[in-house]
Amino acid sequence: NAETVPQAPEDALFGLMAAFRRDTDPKKVDLGIGAYRDDNAKPWVLPVVKQAEDVLRKDPNLNHEYLPIAGLPEFTSASQKLVLGADSPAIKEKRITSLQTISGTGAVHLGALFLSKFYKTKSERTAYFSDPTWPNHFQIFSNVGISTQTYPYFSKQTKGLDFEGMIGSIKSAAEGSIIVLHACAHNPTGVDPTQEQWKEIANVIKEKKHFPFFDTAYQGFASGDLANDAWAIRYFIEQGFETCIAQSYAKNFGLYGERAGCFHFVTSPSSDAESTVSRVASQLAILQRSEISNPPAYGARIASTVLNDKELFAEWEANLRTMSGRIIDMRKALRSKLEEAGTPGKWNHITEQIGMFSFTGLTEQQVLKLREDSHVYMTKNGRISMAGLNTHNIDYFAKAVDKAVRA
Ligand code: PMP
Repeated sequence: NAETVPQAPEDALFGLMAAFRRDTDPKKVDLGIGAYRDDNAKPWVLPVVKQAEDVLRKDPNLNHEYLPIAGLPEFTSASQKLVLGADSPAIKEKRITSLQTISGTGAVHLGALFLSKFYKTKSERTAYFSDPTWPNHFQIFSNVGISTQTYPYFSKQTKGLDFEGMIGSIKSAAEGSIIVLHACAHNPTGVDPTQEQWKEIANVIKEKKHFPFFDTAYQGFASGDLANDAWAIRYFIEQGFETCIAQSYAKNFGLYGERAGCFHFVTSPSSDAESTVSRVASQLAILQRSEISNPPAYGARIASTVLNDKELFAEWEANLRTMSGRIIDMRKALRSKLEEAGTPGKWNHITEQIGMFSFTGLTEQQVLKLREDSHVYMTKNGRISMAGLNTHNIDYFAKAVDKAVRA
């Protein structure tokens, strides 16, 4: 009986959020969860999302019927174009199939589940993640019975990419391993490979007949340029890889709780690619049906309204630049405040890293000291969500870091 069920540890990130909420100090700063905040530390409903909601409200034909198993067709087709580019050969050659999912988490899960059923390898099937990665990757893949490993990624010395370590590890992984890659704005480090490095990564993956699996949760958030942030995925597709793509609209549309996401399976060019993809689609539909039956409608309708309308799309791009621009401003401000104060250590990585997060290099001890002394909340690995900083708290935060580093 259930008496034998052991207590599981609390989710570290959601536990941190709860601790922040309990803290009654008015100076408290939340740099934990990766959700965009405006300059007043408030959640930001994108103006374009409000416009899309107006459009939806006025549509007399909308109802609350079920969506199809694979989701809203105009949403999944627009999602393909967004990630691969409208003129992608994979779309033209019908080498891609896509299902709407429960945000990015659901997309990673559906891909992992599909691979657990249909991806055959000679040795034990293993998924490789960057060290460190979004912790949920481990749980999602191991839940479907795929064993997990890591490849080196972050160099503690340079606070940049450990490229040699990464390549070496992918090279020595058993042939046919699943290599999970963050398409851009790597979580938690904010460190991405350069285009030249991506090309080498692609070469090694091809050489070893590995299976690349892209997780893209920050398109448009990293550089403010949608095509630029999808460069790595598009390059791999150009090289003819078969791949899975898990796409989230949580961050780039601010639709966190609406759970809008999409899973794509792309097969390599071949004479029967279209029939391969149609068989894959039939299996994915069965998996989806047994798990969620069909996906939630509201968030996908909002994203789809924007993605399929030229003017709203342009407004969305402007909103993305507002978010990425404010984050870049905060990076510059934080770095210069720490450098001006002569805070021990180097701080160039703060502006060199990109996207939602910065891996500060603060030790666990310093992180805990910041929490106790200054009511600043960040994950124990020293990651800060840059969006939690603003013109009102950045001075306070920089001084708190200075104090913790000197302690
Ligand atoms: N992958 C990565 C790397 C992420 O950072 C996130 C969000 N934290 C996700 C996937 C999925 O998030 P969601 O399910 O909210 O879309």
